[in-house]
Amino acid sequence: MQICDFFCNFAPKMENLYRQLYNWYAQNHRDLPWRETEDGYAIWLSEIILQQTRVAQGLEYYRRFIARWPNVEALAKADEAEVLREWQGLGYYSRARNLHKAAQMIVANGWAPFPTRFEDIRSLPGIGDYTAGAIVSFAYNQPYPAMDGNVYRVVARLLDIDEAFDTSAGKKLFHKEIERLLDRENPRLFNSAIMEFGALYCTPVLGDNCSICPLQAQCLGYAHGTAELLPVRKPRPKVRDRWFTYHIYIKGERLKVKGERTPVYTLIRRREAKDIWYHLYEFPCEEHSGVQSTEHRVQTDFPFTHLLSHQRLHARYIIHKVQKMPEIPGTLVIRWDELNDFALSRLTLRVLDTMRASLPR
Ligand code: SF4
Repeated sequence: MQICDFFCNFAPKMENLYRQLYNWYAQNHRDLPWRETEDGYAIWLSEIILQQTRVAQGLEYYRRFIARWPNVEALAKADEAEVLREWQGLGYYSRARNLHKAAQMIVANGWAPFPTRFEDIRSLPGIGDYTAGAIVSFAYNQPYPAMDGNVYRVVARLLDIDEAFDTSAGKKLFHKEIERLLDRENPRLFNSAIMEFGALYCTPVLGDNCSICPLQAQCLGYAHGTAELLPVRKPRPKVRDRWFTYHIYIKGERLKVKGERTPVYTLIRRREAKDIWYHLYEFPCEEHSGVQSTEHRVQTDFPFTHLLSHQRLHARYIIHKVQKMPEIPGTLVIRWDELNDFALSRLTLRVLDTMRASLPR
């Protein structure tokens, strides 16, 4: 009923909505390198990096990836391990694995420099409706919506939609409505502007923004006093706690023998289970059951807490100085200074950072 209000009463004013939104965008948007290109490959790269990553952090990775692999053929030829290593620190490593796999598929299918059809792009690993829509609209100005979290929020408020946007029924409803809102003459501009408006202005906490909002006259959420309550999400799944102990084996000393350093060795292994950090390296690690999960033990014995979307990881480490490396299946003896050559999990990097003072350099 309310959505009908919007389109029935405001449809003649759609031009006005676009005008206000585009004016706001012209004056307020951030200058970002992927906005200055129409290269599908570069836009795809930026979109994958920016999933689950803040713009400031993603920018640095985007520049590094483009410099190292300037086109899809170059990325397809890279080793997966190299791609994972360059991705190190960004988390959600399946994005990097899919990026690499997708580059190889693009080349194998003869779609280089980059596919232009929505359906072809959507068929690549790691690409959903949002990313495919973003690529075809930003790169080729094709009339597809790009619904990221910011856009869901703006649409929910503009149209006063109180259906949870992250259920399949909710997604269908929002998709139908954004199709009606989309400016088919200027899809590139419309998608860029509404995303940026959600990211910078129609933010989760509104403060006084509504009172001077350029879209206020068209906003049903504002008119009905519901804006701050929107969008609605489905209840979140329970976060699972996990406990890890890393065993850091060290053999050798940093002695100077006739001016030369004696190498120091350690032991690492690649995670092979289809679990978090698949195919990344870490020190041998044991996982504990929840029996050690009392508040007391967490606080005293597991000083690292690392949050993933549905898991809270607690970790600690034990250093073992040994004369002979233990034989642990699946492990690899490496020189300490070779650690940087491996794609390490984020938690391993945090452990390393903290213990740097007490370990070899
Ligand atoms: S009036 Fe408020 S809720 Fe509506 S679009 Fe503007 S900032 Fe968002």
